Amino acid sequence: MNASTRDTRARAAHAVPAPAIPAPAATRPSPMAPLPYVVTSVHRDTYDTVTLVLEPEDAALPSWEPGQFTMMYAFGVGEIPVSVSGDPYRQDRLVHTVRDVGAVSHAIASARAGDVLGVRGPFGHGWLSDGWPQHDVVVVAGGLGLAPLRPVVYGLVAHRAKFGRVTLVVGARTPADLVYTREYEAWRSCGLDVRVTVDRATPDQDGRPWTGQVGLVTAPLARVALDPERTTAFVCGPEVMMRAAAEALADRGVSDQQILLSLERSMKCGIGVCGHCQLGPDLICRDGPCVTYRHAAPLLAVKEL
Ligand SMILES: Cc1cc2nc3c(=O)[nH]c(=O)nc-3n(C[C@H](O)[C@H](O)[C@H](O)COP(=O)(O)OP(=O)(O)OC[C@H]3O[C@@H](n4cnc5c(N)ncnc54)[C@H](O)[C@@H]3O)c2cc1C
Repeated sequence: MNASTRDTRARAAHAVPAPAIPAPAATRPSPMAPLPYVVTSVHRDTYDTVTLVLEPEDAALPSWEPGQFTMMYAFGVGEIPVSVSGDPYRQDRLVHTVRDVGAVSHAIASARAGDVLGVRGPFGHGWLSDGWPQHDVVVVAGGLGLAPLRPVVYGLVAHRAKFGRVTLVVGARTPADLVYTREYEAWRSCGLDVRVTVDRATPDQDGRPWTGQVGLVTAPLARVALDPERTTAFVCGPEVMMRAAAEALADRGVSDQQILLSLERSMKCGIGVCGHCQLGPDLICRDGPCVTYRHAAPLLAVKEL
């Protein structure tokens, strides 16, 4: 057996199955025309954040990949980009976690079961342009940054045996800002090393005192055992946190090609036409949101770009 056959066989043995893709809609919808989706359930994650499950009223959007986003439209109010945060192996529905920060996100976060929202997409480059990682994985999430990372976490959990060490470092301003807290134990029981830290130890969502770690995500990240040559890192959160986490990982020898970040800019069209989300030479809706740290580092180095 020559080296190339061995490589092919090794890759096949490692391959993580692609999500089941439902039958395509009869005609691909125009990327600018929102399709009506019915809200089938609403879960309140925190005081300002909810997770909506949506199902197509009629035609469905094409299947999505972890790290992609849709443009969600609250009729008569406006449209915003929101990451898909559900299970990539459940393509029959869309799951979106939305923080109420302004007019449109407020309208979407106020939706109830039975309401109809418009959705376009999916758009952008996801986390897995180069496929699933082959060895160890570190996922670093700050605040709502865990939303676009959760589909990756679901894939890691579903195919745990295919990966080496898998660590998830989650940070938030306070315990009441942590999302998906009820899933952390399930992820641990599937073999993920889940470490949680908060900036301030105020009571959690149920009013209980915080007994966990206090400090920035870079503190638990510094304690994660790493084999830099075998590690892929996924990082999402506020820009300052992504910069610090990516620098810390790079300092420990993880290649800047193996550190992936998701960039965020205000968007309008979602398809690289309007120029609203320009960041340096990139349009984030088209060239991102997920990019390597090698690509992002010069952009993140310029404040207010
Ligand atoms: C690719 C991508 C994925 C996103 N995924 C999610 C997600 O999964 N869940 C979620 O809740 N939000 C997500 N966002 C952010 C979301 O789009 C904004 O919160 C939303 O556009 C705010 O619109 P608004 O009308 O509610 O508030 P506005 O009235 O527009 O703004 C309210 C406040 O939020 C700030 N703001 C507005 N837009 C952004 C933005 N894009 N980034 C940072 N701050 C902003 C404004 O400066 C202002 O302080 C994502 C953004 C992008 C670009």
